[in-house]
Amino acid sequence: MESLKQKQARVTRIMRALKKAHPDARLDLDFESPLELLIALILAAQARDDVVNAITAVLFRKYRTAEDWADAKEEVLHEELRRINFYRNKTCSIQKACRTLLEQFDGEVPDTLDELLTLPGVGRKTANVLLGNAFAQPAIGVDTHVGRVSTRLGLTMHDDPDDIEADLTAIVPEKDRVKFCHLLQYHGRRICMKRKPACPKCPIKDMCDYPEKTAM
Ligand code: SF4
Repeated sequence: MESLKQKQARVTRIMRALKKAHPDARLDLDFESPLELLIALILAAQARDDVVNAITAVLFRKYRTAEDWADAKEEVLHEELRRINFYRNKTCSIQKACRTLLEQFDGEVPDTLDELLTLPGVGRKTANVLLGNAFAQPAIGVDTHVGRVSTRLGLTMHDDPDDIEADLTAIVPEKDRVKFCHLLQYHGRRICMKRKPACPKCPIKDMCDYPEKTAM
């Protein structure tokens, strides 16, 4: 049974190897303010980041404040966002979130988890990604890649994202948490894919106990 200290040491080795394997790992959504990241994260659910970036590159010049988004005509936003999956629901979430920002936070995106979770359409993953990437706080946002790769690596025994977040928070140093998530996201997309992980060429296979490792 691996002790907490041994697990923390393994995380350090995993991060070292993944930094070499994925030196370009970063958040793939483009943004210049917490509000822009909030909008991009709502749009990015079950949508490709590059499609979101192409659309927000235009819209972030047109809609600059929470008020701009809240006051926009719904049918105009539908037309502007229609290339993105679930654009109707996402339009609704964006406008509700921006109205809440105006009513309760002077139009600014708050920088605490509890406050972020009061925004319509913002769950724990989105809130943590915002805290980590827009406010430089040591937060762990558990998306599908972070959850899957952590589980396969044996860094958590849980399935629930909140429990996974708690497990990772206990073993990943504060200063590394945001980078750790970016590394696991890139590793999950490029090597430790959902359906068939490429274990033979995985740079951290010696640090992974996944019992169903692929042979070739
Ligand atoms: S060895 Fe396989 S299962 Fe383990 S992290 Fe690498 S790709 Fe994923």
